[in-house]
Amino acid sequence: MDYIDPHLHMVSRTTDDYETLARMGCVAISEPAFWAGFDRGSVESFRDYFRQLTEFEPKRAAQYGIAHYTWLCINAKEAENITLSREVIAMIPEFLGAKNVLGIGEIGLNKNTRNEATIFLEHLDLAVQYNQQILIHTPHLEDKYQGTRMILDMLIGDSRLDRSRVLVDHVEEHTIEHVLENGFWAGMTLYPVSKCTPQRAADMIERFGPERLMANSAGDWGPSKPTAIPDLIMELKKRGHSKELIRKIVFENPKQFFSQSKPFVHG
Ligand SMILES: [Zn+2]
Repeated sequence: MDYIDPHLHMVSRTTDDYETLARMGCVAISEPAFWAGFDRGSVESFRDYFRQLTEFEPKRAAQYGIAHYTWLCINAKEAENITLSREVIAMIPEFLGAKNVLGIGEIGLNKNTRNEATIFLEHLDLAVQYNQQILIHTPHLEDKYQGTRMILDMLIGDSRLDRSRVLVDHVEEHTIEHVLENGFWAGMTLYPVSKCTPQRAADMIERFGPERLMANSAGDWGPSKPTAIPDLIMELKKRGHSKELIRKIVFENPKQFFSQSKPFVHG
């Protein structure tokens, strides 16, 4: 079955992974900017990273017939450094015209600090100013509930935002409802270490329905599985769900959400 992975960090994966993804039916990927596993030293590191995301990865993906899209920002972890963050935010518009950029992301909170919140709000300003969609990272484990509430409060507090153009990722059973009931899109991350399994994702689809809901692998440089979406497809098939429902979650929903950004042309 053709599918789209809406959150996959291919800069930290191999070319063999692209081949495997293509074989499994992946036709498009969206890659948010994130943390590299270490704090970068200057704005120039981010400029190179954004070139990698807008020039190099689309070519690597195209060799396997996969469309590659991306999102730009300084991630929540490095957002603790306000000076560096502001330099990066000032540089992002240089790349907003690139033909695979869907918006600003993944922005969010990590430890729910004041600095992270300040930079989150400055990213929202940037998105509004340049009419960009937004992709949001919610914190892990014990920080998730509080962090998600803080993020939703900041989003709801900005009346300029179109909530149907905002995707809140890494939702779990205790946060998904707040995201959906406020009109945002929600992403479930299938991850072997923290976050959610295909079984839990299938349970959430059954409980909350498929509207404005999608799934991703968030494959990155840590323990993660870039082919986690086919696992979810198998789980849903096993439970007897229709092809239409499965296709809605893994293809139609991401396509509908991304289509609100001009560069998205797939399908
Ligand atoms: Zn991510």
